[in-house]
Amino acid sequence: MIRLLKGALKGKSLLTQASLANVLVMLGAAVSITSLLLWAQSGSLRRQLELRAQTSADFLAKQSEYPLLIGDLDELQRIAKSAVSNEDVLYVAMADEGGKILAQAGRLRTAESANSEIQPGSSCTRILEGGGNLPAHIEVTQCVSAPEAKGLLDWEGDRRSSRRGLGTVRLGLSMEKQKALFVRNARDMLTVAAFTMLLVLWIQHTQLRRLLRPLGRLIQYTEHVAAGDLSQRAPLGAWNEVDDLTRAFNDMVSQLGGSRNELLRMVEKAQEASRLKSQFVANMSHEIRTPMNGIIGMTELTLGTPVSGVQREYLEAALESAESLLAVINDVLDFSKIEAGKMELSPVAFDLTELVEQAVRAVTLKAHQKRVELVLEIERDVPSQVVADPIRLRQILVNLIGNAIKFTERGEVLVEVSRADGAPGPVGALQEGELHFAVHDTGIGIPAAKLESIFDAFTQADGSMTRNYGGTGLGLAIATKLLDLMQGKLWVESTVGEGSHFHFTLQYRGAAASTHASGRGSGALQGLRALAVDDNAINRRVIQGMLEAEGMSVETIESGQAALDLLRARQAQGRAFHLAILDAQMPGMDGFTLAGLILNDAGLRRPVVMMLSSADLSGDVPRCHQLGISCHVTKPVSRAALRESVVRALGSAPSKPSPAKQQPPGSLRPLAILLAEDNPVNQKLASRLLERRGHTVTTVSNGREAVEALERNRFDIVLMDVQMPEMDGWTATEAIRKREQSSNIHVPILALTAHALKDYEDRCYQAGMDGFVTKPLQPAQLFQAVESIIQTVPASCTPE
Ligand code: ADP
Repeated sequence: MIRLLKGALKGKSLLTQASLANVLVMLGAAVSITSLLLWAQSGSLRRQLELRAQTSADFLAKQSEYPLLIGDLDELQRIAKSAVSNEDVLYVAMADEGGKILAQAGRLRTAESANSEIQPGSSCTRILEGGGNLPAHIEVTQCVSAPEAKGLLDWEGDRRSSRRGLGTVRLGLSMEKQKALFVRNARDMLTVAAFTMLLVLWIQHTQLRRLLRPLGRLIQYTEHVAAGDLSQRAPLGAWNEVDDLTRAFNDMVSQLGGSRNELLRMVEKAQEASRLKSQFVANMSHEIRTPMNGIIGMTELTLGTPVSGVQREYLEAALESAESLLAVINDVLDFSKIEAGKMELSPVAFDLTELVEQAVRAVTLKAHQKRVELVLEIERDVPSQVVADPIRLRQILVNLIGNAIKFTERGEVLVEVSRADGAPGPVGALQEGELHFAVHDTGIGIPAAKLESIFDAFTQADGSMTRNYGGTGLGLAIATKLLDLMQGKLWVESTVGEGSHFHFTLQYRGAAASTHASGRGSGALQGLRALAVDDNAINRRVIQGMLEAEGMSVETIESGQAALDLLRARQAQGRAFHLAILDAQMPGMDGFTLAGLILNDAGLRRPVVMMLSSADLSGDVPRCHQLGISCHVTKPVSRAALRESVVRALGSAPSKPSPAKQQPPGSLRPLAILLAEDNPVNQKLASRLLERRGHTVTTVSNGREAVEALERNRFDIVLMDVQMPEMDGWTATEAIRKREQSSNIHVPILALTAHALKDYEDRCYQAGMDGFVTKPLQPAQLFQAVESIIQTVPASCTPE
């Protein structure tokens, strides 16, 4: 019952709950009080009736004494009749000592019952609840005794003195009147109780509503506050406790408002600080890269002129220092950009193999200088074209391979690229998947305790002052964060003294490997037999894989002497090799000695000999020429380069170049270039580089001059620095584009920017620029940007 009530009240307002509780309490109280009163009254009425019945019976008994004594039945009958004339008296009966009824009046109970109840010698006074054929009544039986003698009847001496019983008088008194009275009283009482209850409930309800009203208002204000409106205050003026609550609530809202304002101020400050920091980073980037641009560019230019051996040495040292300083600056800038949440990826479609080969090439020189074998192995089923951020992927790869070379004194560094997502889809189909990159080295390894901490910023496995290897400790932290953005992950396995294995995965969208990359090759080399001689097992495996992918049948051997034996044996079996690829540096008999032996062996049907060598070993090329080996391939070997070289060496027609390489950049016509740049060093550097390339360069120092120059002359392309005095590059570009609207001319504009932020890139495109080159200017990058933009801008749009 209580549970039912609780369920019904759940969710109801406080007023409803309190009112209902009051109704129940009042009802309970009214019922119990009324019942108590009625019970008490019924008892009292009953007692009164009994008393009356007793008194009447006593009176009758008194009256009947003499008639009974003398046996005057008429008198008894008269007394009985006069007694029943009272409307409450239902019947009167008088009996003698033996119980025989002598007189009676009124509606007596059935004779049978009457007889049975008036027994001689029974109790003198009895009260019985009536029933039977009569309405509810009380019956009183009173014994009648002989009256005391007063001298009149003393002849009855014995009887007088003993007061012997003469008989009984029985009287039935109706309870109807009392009942009616009780019912009337009960009705009145219930009416009064109901009225009082309603009155009390009404008063309570009104009071409750009055009390709860301020609470309701407080709830409304709380809702406003919860909705964020802290300007409201709950009004006072209710009863004390609610006023106290309201006051406390208002205080709390005031404090909340204060803290919120404080918080907003702090957020604004933080945002402003972050904006200033980004601005500072951008400016620093510009300010540092611009002079670096001058230093690196001018050093490179000087190295291109006739200089003495010592001067070359010094200049190369200066160039190397400047480049490593630039690398540190780039790391710090990248890291602060990531920390500021400003690093954004620019996913584009690119040739994955080409990119990985480029990354490997960037560190090849270092590997060769340390005489560390650098091997690249790209699985055949990796997609040819992928959509990802090539710049960031290259950065990660260069960092990992650079580290591997840095921390390896002897042995090899193997770079592997494979698919991490199972079987490739149909060739050329666009698919999403995961690539797996691994960089293995045989270097110093990393202690187990440091395997996790090296991924933290500014942390190095050997953080001591006496550490052997330089570095900022930022490379792996940046790579980890970049891979987070690319939904990839980076991890390492390493054993001290044996080497390290860095792995990372990368999500990509791209086309499945082309037939060329995955299949049996173009056909030019199909069925030819090749021998690869290399002391390094991984190198042998990689070269074998690449040549087999071209359809060649390949055998490998690890030493010069064994190679000679094998060449002779296969010739004797009638399966002479068409091609021998020899590693230049091998222990014992090196590649050149072996080549000499092969080429001078009269009994051997000479295969075409190709040399695998390191680019920095400047003596290699002349030695190749001396021996009559026309082709030498630089390690690490890329699949495309190896294929081209083999095809060329075997005298077959070179395969079709890829569309990207159909028109080498250098083959473009000389261009008229307008260079808008305020920094004199940069002016000089860019114009010298472009002039050397055969282009004509007109230089101006700000945006306004650039706009004016374009009004006077026609240019094929404009190189526009973005930050310039008087008029910046963006404003100048907007002015130029506005002017062009009236003509059918669109001069390609390339932004020159040292800003590393994506906002700057976006601003360049918004202003109407066609591309941008970042400073410090790298000659190859500059030429490629200039020449590719000329190729991509539709001919009808370019000035004649
Ligand atoms: P840096 O190389 O500039 O110090 P990184 O973040 O690239 O910074 O590397 C952090 C540290 O991790 C290095 O200082 C080195 O102690 C350790 N480490 C990274 N790569 C290798 C590796 N291939 N072999 C051994 N230790 C490595």
